Amino acid sequence: MDFPTQIYHVSLLLQAAGAVLTAVVLHGFHRIEARRYLRQWTRGWIALSIHLCTAAIGHVLADRGVAAAAWTFLDLVSATGGYLHIVFLLLGTYELATGRDARTEAPRIVVFGGFATGLLVTIALTWAPTGADPLAARYGVDSMLVGAAHITAAIGVCRAPKATRGIGVYIVGGAFFVYGAEQLHYAAIDVATTMLEPGQAFAYSAYLGFLDFLIHTGMALGMVTWLLEDERGKTLRATVEIEHLAYHDTLTGLPNRRLFLDHLRLTIANATRTERMAGVFFLDLDRFKVINDSLGHAAGDRVLQAVAERIRTLVRQGDTVARLGGDEFTILVPDVHGLEDLEAIARKVRDAVKEPILLDGRELFVTASVGVSLFPGDAREPERLVENADTAMYRAKARGTDGFALYAPSMNERAVEQLALENALFRALGRHEFVVHYQPILSTGSGDIVGVESVVRWLHAERGLLFPDEFMAAAEVTGLIVPLGEWVLRTACAQLATWHRAGHRRLYAAVNLSVRQLQQADFVDVVRAVLAEHALPAASIELEVTETIAMQSGDGTVEKLRELKALGCRIAIDDFGTGYSSLSALRIFPVDALKIDVSFVRDIGGEDARGTIAAAVINLAHSLQLDVVAEGVEGETQLEFLRAHGCDLWQGYYFSRPVSAGRCEELLSGRPLRTTPSFGLAAQRMAATKR
Ligand code: C2E
Ligand code: CA
Ligand code: CA
Repeated sequence: MDFPTQIYHVSLLLQAAGAVLTAVVLHGFHRIEARRYLRQWTRGWIALSIHLCTAAIGHVLADRGVAAAAWTFLDLVSATGGYLHIVFLLLGTYELATGRDARTEAPRIVVFGGFATGLLVTIALTWAPTGADPLAARYGVDSMLVGAAHITAAIGVCRAPKATRGIGVYIVGGAFFVYGAEQLHYAAIDVATTMLEPGQAFAYSAYLGFLDFLIHTGMALGMVTWLLEDERGKTLRATVEIEHLAYHDTLTGLPNRRLFLDHLRLTIANATRTERMAGVFFLDLDRFKVINDSLGHAAGDRVLQAVAERIRTLVRQGDTVARLGGDEFTILVPDVHGLEDLEAIARKVRDAVKEPILLDGRELFVTASVGVSLFPGDAREPERLVENADTAMYRAKARGTDGFALYAPSMNERAVEQLALENALFRALGRHEFVVHYQPILSTGSGDIVGVESVVRWLHAERGLLFPDEFMAAAEVTGLIVPLGEWVLRTACAQLATWHRAGHRRLYAAVNLSVRQLQQADFVDVVRAVLAEHALPAASIELEVTETIAMQSGDGTVEKLRELKALGCRIAIDDFGTGYSSLSALRIFPVDALKIDVSFVRDIGGEDARGTIAAAVINLAHSLQLDVVAEGVEGETQLEFLRAHGCDLWQGYYFSRPVSAGRCEELLSGRPLRTTPSFGLAAQRMAATKR
């Protein structure tokens, strides 16, 4: 074996080693990165390793004169490896450059078709009966193919997605290119060799194998660099992503509270410098909970996304739309010129939200309430501006859905007061700060006191005597009405029992009920127990409910009223005529009495139709065999009218305001009264006649 041949063998083995090394590197990265093109390339370089190893062994054996059959077999295996390398290299490059999956794009038939053609060419050329060296000719064709494939791959690699392009990509691309060029050069040599005298002219080509090795090492290095860069790029992108998450809402992609406040801070700084006004809009969807509860959270999320998208496309560039959470959105408008601006924006936003939202073929209607606060008028700090806009939104909502309100400082004072009230309310019951007052109910005919209506008062430590209109709403909202109402019932029953023992045996006590009390599962038992405790006949208490309460169905309210009625209690409809569907209430369950609302009694004798309504209610009640009680009788004219129309009972300032138990007892026993403004003329007259 001559020297150049030995060199050639060594270089072949070196190349094989280089290919194995690259295959290992690629495989390692494929395991970490799981990129498709890495898998194709790994396969490609395994094939190349096989190609080079078998080629080296084949050459050695051929030179040692081993049987042609073995040699031919090795050559076939080698050729197979070579073609597979090209196929996988190109498939991987295709995937890299296009991001598509070659498996779905290139049917196997194409891959194996190309590969089979290569093999056929190999076989044909190996055994072709040409005069010239057939092997050299085939190697020439092979080199040409390998060269073309690598130059194609070099171009493909350089067209990889921008995000993955770095120095590593160019090293790999460059190495592919040089390798491709080198292979083409081989092809040229092979062509030349077949044409010229074989031998010495291209002896240097034996050394080119070392260059191959260098190029492969370069390729491997390039790949390592590339993948490391890719890794770093991914970390960077992840950082950006995390940053985005920290400042954005994941559901809608809108800025979150943090980013909104950041923008607001900047806006405030700018607006201060340029002496401009900025507006903060606070938007809250009406009854969003209903959507969530009835259609599910997924539907709720889609509604939020739809609303977010609408607001986002609606506002001008430079405005910030954010989602604070739940169904709350904020809009920052950095430059507003006046009230009209604010109103126009609020209207635009509400109109956009109002458009039906299509959800699974069904149209959903959503409305929003909007509150606005202004910089610098309403506040100068970002958080305060948002809070004030929120307060204004609540005010808008309180007036009904789909509303809009500008912030006013009084709103906050009221909110703070409200909170303090609710807190104090909770402590008041434990501290025995409530008292029950009683307003006599008289018979129109006899003028006797036949009953009392118990009403609650709060002896507030600082604010003095508070009337229900100042705390009843808060008691309802906080649920305190349940224990408070029960306490009123107990107190009134205890008092009534005392009066019964004192001789007023036929006196009844009316007690006002809240819907929250009727919703309590054990309410009927409570009433039964209280009556038993004071040995009172059930008929001596009258439970007053409003029509609206009586109409509430579904939560057992009506059933409880029926049970209470069965127990023997009297039921009266309070404020009759002011609620909805007065008459249907009467049909749903049996009532004993109707109370004509103060507003109808007040205007008796006046010009308008209210007196007529009072008369109509009296007629209605009588046709249904119900008692009628007129509330709010303040004068003789009203009493005359009621008497003339046959109203059974009445109560009002004309006889007495609601008074303490002690004073009520004086009224009951007709004892002399100290004259105070809270006693009406009739009371004084009655006291005088009894004297
Ligand atoms: P209501 O049940 O309609 O009670 C009648 C209200 O009319 C009482 O007001 C009474 O003081 C007032 N009134 C009586 N006579 C006259 C009059 O001649 N002229 C005028 N202008 N008003 C008169 P009050 O005590 O402030 O109670 C207001 C409301 O608070 C009550 O209306 C009732 O709905 C509620 N309320 C009072 N106490 C309780 C209670 O213990 N439980 C519940 N659930 N509600 C209560
Ligand atoms: Ca009442
Ligand atoms: Ca009433």
